[in-house]
Amino acid sequence: MENKNIVIIGAGYAGVHAAKKLAKKYGQDDSVSITLIDRHPYHTMMTQLHEVAAQRAEPEDIQFDLHRLFKNSKVRPVTDEVKHVDLKDKVVTTAEGTYQYDYLMLGMGGEPNDFGTPGVHENGFTLLSSEDAVKLHKHIEEIVHRAATVHDQKKRQAMLTFTVCGGGLTGVEMIGELLGQRARLAKINKLDEKDISLYLVEAVPNILNVLDRKDAGKAEKYMTENGIRILKNSPIVDVKPDRIILKSGDEIASHTLIWTAGIRANSDTKNYGMESARAGRLKVNEYMEASGLDNVYVVGDLAYFEENGKPMPQMVEAAEQTGGTAAKNIIASISGGEKTAFKGNYHGIMVSIGAKYGVANLNGIHLSGFWAIFMKHMVNLYYFFCIRSGYYMIQYIKHEFFHIKSQSSAQGSKSVIS
Ligand SMILES: Cc1cc2nc3c(=O)[nH]c(=O)nc-3n(C[C@H](O)[C@H](O)[C@H](O)COP(=O)(O)OP(=O)(O)OC[C@H]3O[C@@H](n4cnc5c(N)ncnc54)[C@H](O)[C@@H]3O)c2cc1C
Repeated sequence: MENKNIVIIGAGYAGVHAAKKLAKKYGQDDSVSITLIDRHPYHTMMTQLHEVAAQRAEPEDIQFDLHRLFKNSKVRPVTDEVKHVDLKDKVVTTAEGTYQYDYLMLGMGGEPNDFGTPGVHENGFTLLSSEDAVKLHKHIEEIVHRAATVHDQKKRQAMLTFTVCGGGLTGVEMIGELLGQRARLAKINKLDEKDISLYLVEAVPNILNVLDRKDAGKAEKYMTENGIRILKNSPIVDVKPDRIILKSGDEIASHTLIWTAGIRANSDTKNYGMESARAGRLKVNEYMEASGLDNVYVVGDLAYFEENGKPMPQMVEAAEQTGGTAAKNIIASISGGEKTAFKGNYHGIMVSIGAKYGVANLNGIHLSGFWAIFMKHMVNLYYFFCIRSGYYMIQYIKHEFFHIKSQSSAQGSKSVIS
């Protein structure tokens, strides 16, 4: 067989899943090479970013070394920034080199979308990478520490007010994590817990629209009972360094705006000349083949595909399943066989509000409180099984169950588990 180079860009959930599948097929086949390029030397467990931002986890707890993940495997991980893809000559250009491909898979994820809202970029924080989470964590620790020494009441209050924009899963998990850390932050800075205010601001009339209303209601009740102020129907129109301005004209005096309200396709792909759809996502057919292109696949959050009239969700299960579909279709193309059409098979939605409370709908089974959190851990542990990493499964158990950084972290709920 002629030599075939498969190049995958992006070691996210989709890219890693696809690479594992391809390596399983071609492990013993020297005519096929698999190169996995990512700007980081690690795969980021994006679903736990809020834990790093609020100090429940260390950055390294959610960064999985790609060389370890693909040890003794056919996959060659390359740490490099992709600068361009030449679809005509089939060349990927990175900051450090070039890679010729026969099959290309793009799994480069998304980036925050502030919809042009003034001040978000300059004065706000986002949560879409390890770097974002670390930056936010530093800011949170620092601003509370500084506020403790400020005598001007108004300024101090604004410094101690944290605002999350976006009532989706990420926004709720972020504000929930801050709730979980509030007592610790107050204690180490000799403040009263009540001095720290938490706002969740949503533009539309409801939060957690991916959950049914009853489950969303439970989450909302838990948050409001614990002092989170939820403002619905409240689009943010401007973000200043020390205040947030709402469409109504009302203002929230706050030095911290965390923007989780939108995601669009990774703009690095903008100049590749590929057909795009809503939010810049790249159009694919049911085989995850890029629209109008041969042997180019798009997977995960970056891909745009409609099922039952709705765009494919930007979630881990969709990322893995699209990665799986693309890998199968590359195998069919190289080794022969029928192509496989994508069919989303999603098992549910889980949202954690800090370490001790959550809400979940798993195939129609509704859970809240401890059981939802328990299921979230089970799903995370299953993920390590899927990527065949016993090492990171043990690391996860250590950091979530035993090696706890702060009192308000997972340990509280873990004692219930045991
Ligand atoms: C805080 C947070 C919480 C979430 N919680 C959940 C949850 O509970 N459940 C759920 O199902 N989903 C959740 N999601 C969504 C989920 O994380 C995404 O759907 C998923 O990460 C998409 O996977 P992906 O492989 O498409 O892209 P990503 O995981 O985003 O990976 C993209 C990869 O591409 C690399 N890359 C990008 N550009 C380049 C370049 N130019 N050169 C080289 N490398 C590049 C990046 O470094 C990255 O590793 C959450 C997301 C966030 C941000």
